[in-house]
Amino acid sequence: MPADLEKYRAKRNFSRTPEPAGGSAPRVSDRPQFVVQKHDARRLHYDFRLEHDGVLWSWAIPKGPSLDPREKRLAVRTEDHPLEYATFEGVIPEGEYGGGAVLVWDRGHWVPKGDPSEGLAQGKLEFTLHGEKLRGRWALVRLARRTGRRDDKENWLLIKQRDAAARSGNAAEIVDARPESVLTGRRIEGVAEDRDRVWSSDTGESGGPPAPEVGRPDTIPGARRGALPRRQTVQRPETADEAPDGPGWLHEPELRGLRLLCRVDRGKVAMRGAEGQDAARRLPDIASALAALPCSTALIDGFAVVFDKQGHSEAPSLEEAETAAERIVLVAIDLLHLDGWDLRGAALRARKELLRLLLSEAPPQLRYGDHVEGHGADFFREACRLGLAGVVSKQADAKYRGGRGGGWLRVPCRQGRRAARRSRGLAADEP
Ligand code: MN
Repeated sequence: MPADLEKYRAKRNFSRTPEPAGGSAPRVSDRPQFVVQKHDARRLHYDFRLEHDGVLWSWAIPKGPSLDPREKRLAVRTEDHPLEYATFEGVIPEGEYGGGAVLVWDRGHWVPKGDPSEGLAQGKLEFTLHGEKLRGRWALVRLARRTGRRDDKENWLLIKQRDAAARSGNAAEIVDARPESVLTGRRIEGVAEDRDRVWSSDTGESGGPPAPEVGRPDTIPGARRGALPRRQTVQRPETADEAPDGPGWLHEPELRGLRLLCRVDRGKVAMRGAEGQDAARRLPDIASALAALPCSTALIDGFAVVFDKQGHSEAPSLEEAETAAERIVLVAIDLLHLDGWDLRGAALRARKELLRLLLSEAPPQLRYGDHVEGHGADFFREACRLGLAGVVSKQADAKYRGGRGGGWLRVPCRQGRRAARRSRGLAADEP
């Protein structure tokens, strides 16, 4: 947040410290995100969310946004959502609060005019959106409450301001012209059919655990100043029979891929696999995407994978990397270092949140390896039903120690094991 950054900058001499000054190449933390989710619940609507102070302010817009300044769209204020919600795309089970398919319809960052907290309190928020579909200046204006009516619903209007991004007529109906997800390209029917990620309401829709205070590594407990590590052993899970069901566990789908530690050092990228080979030259698109991240130094743990049509991951063959290059993505699962801060002593949950922000505007070949918190047994059952290899369950507060264990458990699906044996495993590396 810019006001905080002034103090942050005043205390530091950036010719001496490796910490980022921020602002020049804008840090992810300086750019609060906005997201619009298309939500096919009992009634189709669009959830409009603005990040502020660690939460997502939220409005439900029945008709969705219009690019026509004369079209004022009703926006009903709803509860603040956790930051993790911004990337949620999938299906909220029927019978749960908000049951139905959700897709990420637009995403980007927003720049408020004036103090957003004041604007929210006074009922007038003006801002600029930098999304893929929504751009330019917008306003949210609260309608007066009708006197004599005790209605706790706050009704607002979302209005496009007149500028170069405004349109009229059919061209203004962006929700019809561009129905697809900006994350996956799917339409809402496709999300409903795929059922690739089913969430239950208490992991997110109704609030969920408070989002950690993140954005800058120096705000994270357990982070300490340190150089970019030269060597690091990756952390690997121990095998277990069942996914832990209690809170405090993050569950990820088990990935079949080439485990890589990716070192970003002022635009230079090295991607080391288990055998010490550098995959950067074989995967130039991923390497250049890493080099372009909004940071000067980073150490990212991830998997180079190829996803098939069913969403199952496979290890890419580096020998065929040139022909398959456009299909290979790096799924980033952990962040060990960022901009002069050693994060290995910080909690996994905080590391992943920083990682998510770092990748929030990255191209599609860099993907954030998302998780579900809690509900391990349900998540495991769903993963196996979808034919995935299994799940990896990780303690949310675990430090990154390297080596096996350390609060990481791998729970294989039996089917997944067979599939894994079938798959060509040249570079396959069990996580
Ligand atoms: Mn909704």
